[in-house]
Amino acid sequence: EFLYIELRRTTMAFEEITKPSVSDMKETPNLIDYQSTREDFDWYRDGFSGLDWLPDGGLNNAYEAVDRHVNNGKGKQKALIWIGKNGDEETYTYSQFKEESDKFGQVMKNLGMQRADRVFIFMDRIPELYFAAMGILKAGGVIAPLFSAFGPDPVRDRMEDAGASFLVTTPELKSKIDTMLPDIKTLQKVIVIDKSDSANIKTDEKTLLYKDLMKNVDATNFILEPTTQYDFSIMHYTSGSTGKPKGVLHRHQAVVQQWLTGKWALDLKEGDIYFCTADPGWVTGTSYGMMAPWTNCVTQIIYEGGFSAASWYEIIQKYGVTVWYTAPTAIRLLMRAGEAVVQRYDLSSLRFIGSVGEPLNPEAVVWGNKNYKMPIHDNWWQTETGAIMCANYATTNIRPGSMGKPFPGVTMGILDDQYNELGAGESGILAVRPGWPSQMFAYWQQDEMYNSRFKKGWYITGDQASIDEDGYFWFQGRADDVINTAGHLVGPFEVESALIEHKAVAEAGVIGKPDPIAMEVVKAFVTLNPDYEATDQLRRELIGFARDKLSAGVAPREIDFIDVMPKTRSGKIMRRLLKARELGLPEGDTSTLEDDG
Ligand code: ATP
Ligand code: MG
Repeated sequence: EFLYIELRRTTMAFEEITKPSVSDMKETPNLIDYQSTREDFDWYRDGFSGLDWLPDGGLNNAYEAVDRHVNNGKGKQKALIWIGKNGDEETYTYSQFKEESDKFGQVMKNLGMQRADRVFIFMDRIPELYFAAMGILKAGGVIAPLFSAFGPDPVRDRMEDAGASFLVTTPELKSKIDTMLPDIKTLQKVIVIDKSDSANIKTDEKTLLYKDLMKNVDATNFILEPTTQYDFSIMHYTSGSTGKPKGVLHRHQAVVQQWLTGKWALDLKEGDIYFCTADPGWVTGTSYGMMAPWTNCVTQIIYEGGFSAASWYEIIQKYGVTVWYTAPTAIRLLMRAGEAVVQRYDLSSLRFIGSVGEPLNPEAVVWGNKNYKMPIHDNWWQTETGAIMCANYATTNIRPGSMGKPFPGVTMGILDDQYNELGAGESGILAVRPGWPSQMFAYWQQDEMYNSRFKKGWYITGDQASIDEDGYFWFQGRADDVINTAGHLVGPFEVESALIEHKAVAEAGVIGKPDPIAMEVVKAFVTLNPDYEATDQLRRELIGFARDKLSAGVAPREIDFIDVMPKTRSGKIMRRLLKARELGLPEGDTSTLEDDG
């Protein structure tokens, strides 16, 4: 029986943020009129035709990202500025980027890599990661990037699952997984990038040094593999928020949507200084940390270090970042770091800020608008969708808490449990009409699971949402996380958003705790801002605060204070883990759990 979620939105407390008219904007955005563009949109004319394609009509995403700019006379433009953990800096033009990636492509061909071979990339964000990735793609291989923080088990699981042929890594990371490498029976070669030349790597038939390979290779006659739009390009394991990560396989044609969403949803323009804080271990770090920016010919800042409010602001100020793409978890940490830190920096170069990965709490949108003097644009997509599907755009007004409207050419709907479409104001299953260019091709060797995601002509996202009268989409929660309390379905997001409006609360994770009478009761786990203490009095205050914002039935019945919010490496709150811990159940797959808070 289908229960529908009542619309009780904390977000109504926040006013719509209206955009100035285009003539009053600092620069004219790429997408000027969302509505008319949407009505007249054509994927062939507006998407596919915007790329260069290969001479034989094929498509290669790395060619579109790197080589074509060189062929079009833009080789001198800066493709990437790398900032190392220790402050080192390296800059590469598109020409240099092409040269390095051609060389690595030739290396891979010489090593016998075949089309569609899976090449794992297990390393920190250093320039060589990107040279290798582009080289592999140009030579027809499939890149499978992993978070460098993974331990041996998650690396083994994924490499075994994918039947990895090659591994590109660094000395430190290799030593972490050395003992398990012999388990990967399909593995042919391990290429070690010793950037500082300080490790004493013993090379043998299987273990090779990047430096030697690159020094000895002759790439003057490198022939880019004539891939087609249907060739496989990237394999990504999902974030593991809801269970065991799935291997999502993408094809070269995804680049069409990555390019166009970069242009229209992130407003990327040639010459922009773009800063994406995502690691390539997460899909955001490849779709928007490689493909979207470079196909749009921008200069990308690649920062090897992790989160730090001061260093991020410093980067924006020093390099004059114009477009910044980050995630709610980081934005909440920036809020926690406080307004005083923001004021110490000149962030006036910024023109556009985007966010993805989790619902962006309305509080964060408003905070951003005040402190960065521009709203943060939330957008929604998944590993499976390969690119942005729903977004707030440069010229569209923002309703804080809403993920905006479907990208032109993308049709989204809200369905009931029989997969019939619901109207405005009703909550249900968030679904997409299949056929968008960056749609996943498969869950690796999980056909049944893949097929189960398609129902009555829709792709089922696994999320719950609603649409309002004006076509804005509102995320409510993952289907697995929705709480059933006394006959109401409650999305954890609205409860979490209400809690973080309280000045003491930094982050909140909300679950349904089994209850003999109500079926489930709402329970919240909360981390506090600096200077606040976890007391019973604060607990009572927070419960009262949430009741005022929500309603007694929806507000948390119980609140626990915790020191560290369990999150995935891509920064998503792992509610299933909060729940397992609460109930004393096994924690399940924790391979993506962030362990350093
Ligand atoms: P798994 O599929 O392994 O459980 P995951 O779904 O977190 O992990 P990703 O593909 O990285 O893996 O994340 C996609 C999901 O993240 C979406 O389905 C949605 O639940 C959430 N998400 C992404 N962006 C947004 C957003 N702007 N608002 C709300 N939720 C978002
Ligand atoms: Mg998912």
